[in-house]
Amino acid sequence: MSECEQPDQDEIFKLLSVVLASTEDFWHEVFAQHGLTYREPKLVIFEDSVQMSTGVWHESGGPIYNDQDETIYFPSAFIDYFMSEVLGKDKLHIEFAAACVVAHEVGHHVQKLIGRFKKSACGRYELPSGWARVPFELEADRFAGAWAHYADKKRRMVEAGDMEAATRFFHYIGDDNLRRQGNISPGFAMVAIDPEQFSHGNSQDRQNSFLAGYKGGAKNLNLFKIGGGAGI
Ligand SMILES: [Zn+2]
Repeated sequence: MSECEQPDQDEIFKLLSVVLASTEDFWHEVFAQHGLTYREPKLVIFEDSVQMSTGVWHESGGPIYNDQDETIYFPSAFIDYFMSEVLGKDKLHIEFAAACVVAHEVGHHVQKLIGRFKKSACGRYELPSGWARVPFELEADRFAGAWAHYADKKRRMVEAGDMEAATRFFHYIGDDNLRRQGNISPGFAMVAIDPEQFSHGNSQDRQNSFLAGYKGGAKNLNLFKIGGGAGI
């Protein structure tokens, strides 16, 4: 992609579909090693807003995994407005960083499949007791890192500079940094207001979890350890 060109919807769909397919290869392998079958999530790229099974989701909310319909909803503007802003000088590596964001959302799908979510009486999935939001998010970062290891070592999808860009991105989207940055870009309200509202982990923890996943690959994922130290 050239410096000035912004990816269009089709390009983004193609890119993220390739990424999703490689996460499927990775997780099929990991699940098979545990004698389990991996059920693939769906991916929807959208502009403005999208109708999910549980209601309408706006692009300002950023990418999300909806556990009810097992679908990842990814606003195309997230790459244009948000990632380009964070990784502006690194446009060439934005694709890989975007791939890691998808891998993080796939991480939430894996969390659902391995029983990290608990189903409430009214049918909604919730975090199991003993899990706060932050370790839950950091585990998804670690799963994304494990996929990045696979993409690098087995698929040769990772180019020089990609990991640095992805790592920088995970650092950027830490709660503490988003708070410092204030309104980072028009349309994206991903700003934690105060530490009590931190939901995804601070920059150092997010970066460390992603890198720990990358270092360990499919090993030491602690897939069936509930409430345990998943990259935290
Ligand atoms: Zn998440």
